[in-house]
Amino acid sequence: MHDRIEATLDSAILACPDCDLLQVLPEVHPGGRARCVRCGRTLATRIRNPIERPLALTLAALLVLVVANAAPLMGLSVVGREASTTIIGGAYQMWIEGQELTALIVLFCAVIAPAAYILFSLVVLLAATRPPAPRWVGEMLRWADGMQPWSMVEVMMLGILVSLVKIAELAKVEPGIGMYAVGILMLLLPAIQVSLDPDEIWARLTWADGELPSTTPEAPNPETALTDSTS
Ligand SMILES: [Zn+2]
Repeated sequence: MHDRIEATLDSAILACPDCDLLQVLPEVHPGGRARCVRCGRTLATRIRNPIERPLALTLAALLVLVVANAAPLMGLSVVGREASTTIIGGAYQMWIEGQELTALIVLFCAVIAPAAYILFSLVVLLAATRPPAPRWVGEMLRWADGMQPWSMVEVMMLGILVSLVKIAELAKVEPGIGMYAVGILMLLLPAIQVSLDPDEIWARLTWADGELPSTTPEAPNPETALTDSTS
């Protein structure tokens, strides 16, 4: 138990990234932030709905992801002939035309990585709604973190826009529902990333030795309150 108290205290001590002042973080209330006592840099922020808000965004992103992959990105019509394609359809076309590596990269960065990030985040958030969350939730949080840099929906969106402009010189191009969905997804993914605070998830996780997480995160400790907190 003594070790546990020491470990908890250690985790609350933090060096300011700007001025390097070592200080103890007070308990930050929802909607509040803690600043460095010397330079005023924000050391910790706590959003108001740490689980509900990212959960809502993740559910929305899941729906939009399905639409983005099921609906055509754009439709083309040249001299009476019409064609349209989805993201996966485009990757498949690349594969049969001999661009296997490009097809795999497109498939991974535009479909698999965003889908994995959204699904892992969704499972983590659903499990964290009712603490204590099981141990595997922490592992899944790491997987979501690992998938996040590979999710390059915005790069694909740029590619779509460039091709849209180039093809428009040769054929009639109609932006499809899929393209709008990709545009919305491009905004939802960073929104999830900003609103999902890993500390909130870790605080709800069962400890490695089987001990349940502390259920009183609101209790302020005046002895450690070296930083100021505004709400
Ligand atoms: Zn500082």
